[in-house]
Amino acid sequence: MSPLRTLDQSSKLKNVLYEIRGQALAAADELEAEGHTILKLNTGNPAIFGFEAPFQIVRDMIESVPYAHGYSDSRGILPARRAVVSRYEQEPGFPQFDPDDVYLGNGVSELITMTMQALLDEGDEVLIPAPDYPLWTAMTSLADGTPVHYVCDSEDGWQPDLEDIRAKITPRTKAIVVINPNNPTGAVYSREVLQGIVEIAREHSLLLLSDEIYDRILFDDARHVPLATLAPDLLCLTFNGLSKTYRVAGYRSGWMVITGPKQHARGFLEGIQLLASTRLCPNVPAQHAVQAALSGVQSIDALIAPTGRLHEQRDAAWAALEAIPGVSCHKPQGALYAFPRLDPEVHEIHDDSRLVYDFLVAEHVLLVPGTGFNWATPDHLRIVTLPEARVLTEAIERLGNFLASYRQ
Ligand code: PLP
Repeated sequence: MSPLRTLDQSSKLKNVLYEIRGQALAAADELEAEGHTILKLNTGNPAIFGFEAPFQIVRDMIESVPYAHGYSDSRGILPARRAVVSRYEQEPGFPQFDPDDVYLGNGVSELITMTMQALLDEGDEVLIPAPDYPLWTAMTSLADGTPVHYVCDSEDGWQPDLEDIRAKITPRTKAIVVINPNNPTGAVYSREVLQGIVEIAREHSLLLLSDEIYDRILFDDARHVPLATLAPDLLCLTFNGLSKTYRVAGYRSGWMVITGPKQHARGFLEGIQLLASTRLCPNVPAQHAVQAALSGVQSIDALIAPTGRLHEQRDAAWAALEAIPGVSCHKPQGALYAFPRLDPEVHEIHDDSRLVYDFLVAEHVLLVPGTGFNWATPDHLRIVTLPEARVLTEAIERLGNFLASYRQ
């Protein structure tokens, strides 16, 4: 037998980064295997923090299982796509669309991957927020595109900087990604800023890609404006799913809605259809959860109310972070995260991944470095606000004590 040939990963993966489940998680798993208890604040996975799946969703999924063993239509089962249409009919001003404009996916993640693969040629540019949910950057790179990050302004509640977006447009720019409410910052974008983005997209004929997976997780008086409502004259893909609002991330169930004119984008949309066909279909039992979720009681409302668990946890995390000398945090208005800043004058951090690793080893709490969200400087961390308030407060106090004597 000839010697086994070395297998490296493909060069396509050179710029594909996903630190939320990166090396620090591997280190956390090792510590767990040694018998330590680790508080993992790295993923927005409600189930592991005691959030139960809504009963009617579980019931419908279980009841579907005996009949859901065949492939479905590549776009997804019709009742689920109809339920998505009905959901957006309740959304004032959302452009009309029909079930053929809906694609179900194994989570939003799969639909992001499909979209980028169908859209991009080598060197095509996509405007993506910094900081971002890093899958958008990773999948742009995997599809041979070039991610170009536009800055969101921490001094302005992390709203996108329209001037920066304008300055970064080139003849190769094809699309702009908006993540609202935002992961990792918790910002909810104002109507004016969204109108500004749409204006720029109109001027430069850009495709709008709007990730709205946290649109029902809002605090205080935050209001979510769906991007498509401001852009009925532009092609807009809106992404959403069950993972967060309905706390069933493990079911892997999401959707993508296509609105606006389509004639000019026939090739791209045929590409989406082709890729949807090649994946055959999303997991069918999880598709049955969509109709149950969208038409049932919206139990998320109680969790985000001022006395609700998610609201209390957001408050607790924010207050504990603000109490640490040299740490400041924009109060999250939505989503499930806080993104505090470590003042470089007080905390001299040159490598935020090392900070995360050192904190993990010392205090057994796993965070994600801000640079993992394509934030350029090592002065931020992301904390998941899903654990109970007392657990969050204690973990953040431990971070404060750790930082007090930490030097790099
Ligand atoms: N988009 C954003 C902004 C997210 O935060 C996440 C998960 O954390 C996803 C997409 C992926 O969601 P899904 O579970 O539907 O694949």
